[in-house]
Amino acid sequence: MAKPAGKEKQLPRNINSADSVPVDDIDFRSGEKDKSVEELLDEHKRLGVRPFTAEVQEFERLDEGRRSDILNSIDQSVDLETDEWMEPDYENADIEVDWEKLKEASDEERRFEKLEEKYTGPAGLFQLSVQPDDDIEWQPGDFFSIKLPETPGLDLQGHQVPEVRRETAEDETVFRAYSIGSSPNDDAIDFYIKRIPDEAVTEQSLTPVLDAKMKEADEITLRGPYSDELSIKETSEKDMVYVSTGTGMAPLKSMIDFSLEEGLDSFEGEERDMYILLGASYEDELPAHQHFQELDEENENIHYIPTVSRESLVSDWDGETDYVQNVLSDYAGDEIDMENAEVYVCGMSTMAQGVRQTVEELGLDTENGSYHEEVFD
Ligand SMILES: Cc1cc2nc3c(=O)[nH]c(=O)nc-3n(C[C@H](O)[C@H](O)[C@H](O)COP(=O)(O)OP(=O)(O)OC[C@H]3O[C@@H](n4cnc5c(N)ncnc54)[C@H](O)[C@@H]3O)c2cc1C
Repeated sequence: MAKPAGKEKQLPRNINSADSVPVDDIDFRSGEKDKSVEELLDEHKRLGVRPFTAEVQEFERLDEGRRSDILNSIDQSVDLETDEWMEPDYENADIEVDWEKLKEASDEERRFEKLEEKYTGPAGLFQLSVQPDDDIEWQPGDFFSIKLPETPGLDLQGHQVPEVRRETAEDETVFRAYSIGSSPNDDAIDFYIKRIPDEAVTEQSLTPVLDAKMKEADEITLRGPYSDELSIKETSEKDMVYVSTGTGMAPLKSMIDFSLEEGLDSFEGEERDMYILLGASYEDELPAHQHFQELDEENENIHYIPTVSRESLVSDWDGETDYVQNVLSDYAGDEIDMENAEVYVCGMSTMAQGVRQTVEELGLDTENGSYHEEVFD
């Protein structure tokens, strides 16, 4: 059901206020790791950014159950004596698979390489929801930096965190930027965080520590909010197109949720269409996938278009599988009037470059204020 077209609202007070600190002077992309504690404190004092604490409300790994899906998928396609390559009972899905044997025994070597990568790798997402101890205002599109937990003696045993990380787990200078995935109208702050591969972890890495350590009721320290390229614009008649891969969806989700809550998806009584294109390798790597599916079902003007390149290896996925920019290109023309759209892009720079080129080819002037892009790398 479409929402009744409501009266347009002015942007709420905090949206145009200066609560968020512009990040021009802070190099989050280097993780601030080259700066001393004193330099960081001076910099943040100058910018008026004070740390605050928050309590973890929820910590959820979004790829739970996928190992079973992979085992099922192998089981259906390979005619091997089960005990040649794995234990028959895979309820816990904590099973050593003899991938080399599988590859040798089948003519689908490439397929098994991809499945091995998914089965053995950490390339999943986790969602972290925290409740700030004070009233903290932020704008949709903002991000916070999270500090390494101060808990002494972090117990990272049992997790795939290299020794080097354990030795430096209490380094207080480690802050990392994470985009806010929830609306400022929510009490909790949600983050969608991508796990990094073990081989990429360094002495300064924060994500594996959050992944290994976080549980409900823990306290974490954050700083911000900071604003970069993404923010909600004044309403217009234009349709809105949100394009991202992986965790790049977080700030866009905050903007989408807030726009819907505040009635910014209508203009002079007319609904504005919102196209949400989200890409990843597997379905469980699409942040807030179920939330967007529900929005799509409940609102005629919302069109959620997920695209996952490898999901069909493990399930009967029959949706889009191409790069987001190619999917966007397919929808443009018939469905999306690209010359008259407002486009928001977030994620890795290679994806953003591809999207920019595509929308320009489709007739959007990316220099006239209709195109907004933020990259994480
Ligand atoms: C404005 C902004 C917003 C951001 N928002 C988010 C967000 O919402 N969610 C999120 O997950 N991240 C986000 N990031 C990235 C985040 O800040 C960290 O850079 C990232 O989590 C890695 O930090 P780390 O400390 O774990 O690893 P680092 O020690 O910083 O990196 C270790 C090594 O891993 C590599 N690496 C980092 N990430 C990956 C990866 N995914 N796959 C493979 N190699 C990798 C790095 O290049 C480096 O070589 C954002 C970054 C910026 C600048």
